[in-house]
Amino acid sequence: LDPEEFRKQAHLVVDFIADYYSNIEQYPVCSQVKPGFLTETMLKLAPLEPEPIETIMQDVQNHIIPGLTHWESPGFFAFFPCTASIGNFLGEMLITGFNAIPFNWLASPAATELEMVVLEWVLNLLQLPKSFWFSSDGGGVLLGSTCEALVCTLVAAREKKLSKVAAEEGVLEKMVIYCSDQTHFSLKKACGVVGISPQNVRAIVTTKSMNYELSSLALLNAIETDLRSGLIPLYVCLTVGTTQTTAVDPLGTLCEIANRFDMWVHVDAAYAGSACICPEFRHFLDGVEEATSFSFNPHKWFLTTLDCCCLWVKDRTVYTKALSSDPEYLKNKPSESKQVVDYKDWQISLTRRFKAMKLWMVLRMHGASGLREFIRKQVKMAQHFEKLLSRDKRFELVVPRNFATLCFRLLLANQSSCDGDINMLNKQLLESLNATGRVYMTHAVVEGVYVIRVSIGAVLAQDKHVSMLWDLLQEHAEVLLAKYVT
Ligand code: PLP
Repeated sequence: LDPEEFRKQAHLVVDFIADYYSNIEQYPVCSQVKPGFLTETMLKLAPLEPEPIETIMQDVQNHIIPGLTHWESPGFFAFFPCTASIGNFLGEMLITGFNAIPFNWLASPAATELEMVVLEWVLNLLQLPKSFWFSSDGGGVLLGSTCEALVCTLVAAREKKLSKVAAEEGVLEKMVIYCSDQTHFSLKKACGVVGISPQNVRAIVTTKSMNYELSSLALLNAIETDLRSGLIPLYVCLTVGTTQTTAVDPLGTLCEIANRFDMWVHVDAAYAGSACICPEFRHFLDGVEEATSFSFNPHKWFLTTLDCCCLWVKDRTVYTKALSSDPEYLKNKPSESKQVVDYKDWQISLTRRFKAMKLWMVLRMHGASGLREFIRKQVKMAQHFEKLLSRDKRFELVVPRNFATLCFRLLLANQSSCDGDINMLNKQLLESLNATGRVYMTHAVVEGVYVIRVSIGAVLAQDKHVSMLWDLLQEHAEVLLAKYVT
């Protein structure tokens, strides 16, 4: 690695990225290429000889960019946002630049301790109780994804339970997991990874009348039914900001029930956790003090790019017991002193990235006030869009808005139209809007109702983009409704 060559070529790539952001609105938000567009045109063998960076960047422009869906485009309203920022970029450059692999403290003491520092900063911003911190019996770690946090906490919960129940045959098959039918599918996947059968995952049905929140009575009934059948309630996953409608499970009462049965309670706030650094949203986390673990993804709405998931647990001894390993070749004095944190014992893999660097850069370059201002600006735009929707009787807001994501549908004036017709209408509406290339939104289906989701959160989104979305929506709705009348 020649430092001078690196300096020259990196400047070129930085200029390229800056131009990409300046021109991002020129590109269709959701890629419009056909399957095979790249695999059929790219050379089948890796180049034998080195190629100049200029040629490679030409290919990025001509062949890669057309096949990208532009997640940072201000017209991106799909899924949940994945927010980039200058602090994050610079942090990522430093991470790759140092290429440190802090699997234990000695492998890069600064990386481990910076991770502890930023996790304590964020814990304070979220006003999580101190029982989740190293100064108590808990602690935090930066993982790659919520799914990883679920796998790790499920394993820890299982080991904890095994240490308490009689080691009779078939005990593992008796362990049951609870969630709502709105819980992200990664819980089921995580259960599969750790060997819990899908039959032992209770996805409790939620309804519109309860805003798709998990009912404490339904949870209690499910647990008691399983106990009567000789099963072992192990783990419940609660969500603050569900993926489809951003519903918030009532943490306090649900934790109280789960704790009665000595279960592990994980709170997944992947998207909405970011908003909870604002005092006006913090109430959504009320009751979290009774949970066993809590995670959220800065890589969604916290000006941090993939991958970055914060996980805190209340009992680090229980958590790390399930994930620790102590091979001879990693033995060293600081680890043996037990005075340090070895993050290899907090995750699945041995190796890991120095993720704390980017989160530290984000927190320092934006400050708590900058991050709160960012969230509030997005929520204000969502409120504005909500107002526009609620004033237009042709549209229905399907669930109340909690954060900056809205679920709505276009209605048919004809009272006799069935849900099937309305679903088809909204599917067509979404497809026609996305085909313009100016916006990209996704959908959800709740209780058989097809809804269009608008998640406002792209860092480049301004009021004018929300107005553009509204104009486009009206224009396409009119055309479609006219077809249905004729
Ligand atoms: N939990 C919730 C509530 C989510 O919305 C998502 C993704 O959108 C996930 C979990 C999955 O997150 P990850 O991809 O980090 O595993």
